Amino acid sequence: MATNITWHPSLSRAERNTFRKQPGFTIWFTGLSASGKSTIATALEQHLLHLGFAAYRLDGDNVRFGLNKDLGFSEKDRNENIRRIAEVAKLFADSSTIAITSFISPFAADRQTARSLHAEVKGDDAPLEFIEVFVDLPLEVAEARDPKGLYKLARAGKIPEFTGISSPYEAPENPEIYIRSDQKSVEDAVAEIVQYLEKRGLLKLAQ
Ligand code: ADP
Repeated sequence: MATNITWHPSLSRAERNTFRKQPGFTIWFTGLSASGKSTIATALEQHLLHLGFAAYRLDGDNVRFGLNKDLGFSEKDRNENIRRIAEVAKLFADSSTIAITSFISPFAADRQTARSLHAEVKGDDAPLEFIEVFVDLPLEVAEARDPKGLYKLARAGKIPEFTGISSPYEAPENPEIYIRSDQKSVEDAVAEIVQYLEKRGLLKLAQ
């Protein structure tokens, strides 16, 4: 049994990062349905894991059916959906994990809420980095891809308030990273994000 444990009343984020040998932060994907958020986010997650980082993706499959299964698609529920996702991403980031979120998150105010949550500081902790990745493409291309047949259903009036068809998508004005997924391969998109993170000094794995 270890006997040399020193207890701290609480651990600062910097100390936690030192123990975990990496910083935590959030990469927030936004864009139309079928823009490629999940495809790029999944490839990025795997790449980061290969490099030795703890990274975890939050998406519709693991959030909508669990934590947020009580929420629908009204504007109020959509706001709450994003607020909870932002809070969970922040917890992952605070635990020295790279949180990757992949949700349409169509409203600028909701994305701003997510960003602001990460900027809040307590004690001596530095703000958590929040990197917004806007995966953009013309609506016609998203509609032609339509991997889940959702645009077809939306056009037929079977999905109310579908982003891009019957509900607006408010494009980010100042995303940290902008990707045209109709002009860039998945591999190049991942490479661009990794380059950005390296430039910002966020991909330093301590020995
Ligand atoms: P979203 O998560 O934004 O709804 P998905 O990643 O689920 O989008 O679906 C995007 C679809 O577009 C997938 O079928 C993917 O294979 C395809 N696709 C084609 N080219 C690209 C690209 N360059 N980047 C991302 N996805 C692409």
